[in-house]
This record gives sequence, structure tokens and C-alpha cells, in this order.
Amino acid sequence: MRNNYHTHTNRCLHAYGTDEEYILRACEGGMTELGFSDHGPFPDKDYGLRMQYGQLDEYISSLDRLKEKYKDRLNILKGLEIEYYPAYNDYYRALLDEKGLDYLALGAHSFIDRNGEFKNIFFADDTDTVLDYAKNVCQAIETGFFRFVAHPDIFFLNDLPVDDNIERACAMMTDCAAEHDMILEYNANGYRRARRMYRDGFRYPYPHEAFWRAAAEKNIRAIIGSDCHAPDQVCDESFIYAEKKALQLGLRLCDCIF
Ligand SMILES: [Zn+2]
Ligand SMILES: [Zn+2]
Repeated sequence: MRNNYHTHTNRCLHAYGTDEEYILRACEGGMTELGFSDHGPFPDKDYGLRMQYGQLDEYISSLDRLKEKYKDRLNILKGLEIEYYPAYNDYYRALLDEKGLDYLALGAHSFIDRNGEFKNIFFADDTDTVLDYAKNVCQAIETGFFRFVAHPDIFFLNDLPVDDNIERACAMMTDCAAEHDMILEYNANGYRRARRMYRDGFRYPYPHEAFWRAAAEKNIRAIIGSDCHAPDQVCDESFIYAEKKALQLGLRLCDCIF
């Protein structure tokens, strides 16, 4: 069983179960390392769908306690999945250096677009927005704060035309990842969502084959991310299916993120 570095907890209020239940499920599935990456808070603003900043220390101490308790069975890493806003560079550094997190995963669910407006990638209504998303991802990669990019192709959940902007966005992100040897995450959570008819065919919202074929051609390192929001998703059939698809696409899968 491959290891997983994308695990949520009930602190984000849209995931279920205790921290320990995720760990037990990973042990049962045969994992040797499990990375927690719940949705990270910001100190001065609540962007929603994430733990409160006041819960961060408790999250870290809970994982420290469980890391010690399970040290003979599983290596536990402490991370966060978090958006990249340039104004918070000192904060990302502090999360790693002062709070002692093992890693940050870039989850660019929202970002600031070319007009300085806050955009949510789940509701992108044109392909200019996708291009701005790709710029945000590349800018984040270049900071060096992030260990991997979670679901870089998540924008494909919007039913947009596959035009020049989309092609440029895919090329920008894969070129930037190749240049910086950044790990991209092939995200199993897309396979837990319904398949439906899009302009470019009947498919899952993500992962998107065109994006990952380009990643395979550029020999980019990839991991399978469970993106589990419940303990029984840690290594479920979607996680296993994602690995199978990634191997069929010829992706260079790596076993750990360090
Ligand atoms: Zn979530
Ligand atoms: Zn995410």
C-alpha cells in the first residue's frame, strides 16, 4: 500500500472521525507513513471550511501525542493543506520554523486574481480565472514553502471550454513543477465525486487525463493523495483506483515526499 500525505481531520468541520481512527485505518491498510494535512487557518482572517487559528496548537499537540503512541507502527507527519496568498509569506515560514510542521501542501482552492479580486476555483466561470489560478500555483511553487501541490488540475471540475487559456494553464504548471522538481498530487477525491458529461466528454471532475499526460511526458514526480475526509477513505477503492490510473498514465510515482 502506498503512503498518503493528504489527510483531513474533523477540525475543518466537513471531515469526520478522530485523528486516531485515521491512523488505525492507515495501519490496517499497510501504510508505513501517514501525513496529516488538514485545511490550514490564517491568523487574522477566517476563510471558511477550515480549522480555527485557535485550534492549530491543539492539532499539532494531538499529532505529536499520536506520533509517539504509534511510533512502532507508523510514521506520522504533521502538515497543513493551505492556499497561497503572497501577503502571508512570514506566516508560512513561521508554520514550518516555529510551529514545527513537517510540510505544507498547496491547496489553491482560492487565490487573488489579476484584478486583485478573491476567486474560488470551485466556481471559476471563465478560463481567464483558470490562468490566474495557474499563475498563483506557479508563484507558490517558487516560494519553496510547499512540499507538493494538491490537486493541481482541480479546475477541471468546472465545465469550461478547453481553449488556449486552459492549455497555457496546464503547460505553465507542469513546466514550473518540472523546473523546480515539485511533486504534484494525483488526487483520489475526484474519483469519489460523480462522473458526468462535460464539454470535453463524460468523465470525473478530476484528475484530468490531458493534464496528467503532460505531467508524465515532463517526468514530473507525483504522489497519490487520498484527500480523505473520513477514516474509511484513507485507503479506499478510490485511492487504489487512482494509483492504478496514475501507473497506466506512466506517471513517476514517488513513495514519500522528502
Ligand atoms: Zn476538505
Ligand atoms: Zn484541497
